[in-house]
Amino acid sequence: MNLREYIRDVLDFKPGITFFDITPLLADPNAFRYAIDALAERYQDCGANKIVAAEARGFLFGAPLAYKMNIGFIPVRKPGKLPYKTAEVTYELEYGTDSLQMHVDAVKPGDNVLIIDDLLATGGTTNGMIQLVRNAGGSVAGIGFLIELGFLDGHSKLEGIPHEYLLKL
Ligand code: 5GP
Repeated sequence: MNLREYIRDVLDFKPGITFFDITPLLADPNAFRYAIDALAERYQDCGANKIVAAEARGFLFGAPLAYKMNIGFIPVRKPGKLPYKTAEVTYELEYGTDSLQMHVDAVKPGDNVLIIDDLLATGGTTNGMIQLVRNAGGSVAGIGFLIELGFLDGHSKLEGIPHEYLLKL
């Protein structure tokens, strides 16, 4: 299946920036199932016992993949959204910084975590998730994306951890 057909390019979403819209893929049951199954196939032997994914679009792939792989799902959110005690990381954006939080007891020492997101752009979001997992005493079993933007060097922020993607743009 050519997943590219299910990604809509929204030109000038912000001035000069194209947004790659994944909602057509989500709306198509065959394409959505294909994407989740393809990620599950790649990661079935990675030894992860949990998936960590960031709001909002990371949830859309991380949660069904955790269900399919029969492993736990850990949400990472913007500050102030999670109800219990949180650990936080701050990471660099092109202009300024952003923060992500995770419940303090979500990843336990010794956990082996698969990090999932819909799209790798600059790598800042994924690097934040790597830090949250490691700060909690977990290790990263792998990093998977639906889409990698090849014209940015986001992979350089992945700390040398191997990553996979289903589509490179
Ligand atoms: P990064 O932190 O790698 O610069 O940006 C990746 C994060 O921003 C991902 O969580 C992703 O959901 C979101 N993102 C940035 N640009 C796009 C885009 O063009 N399409 C989609 N679907 N997500 C994007």
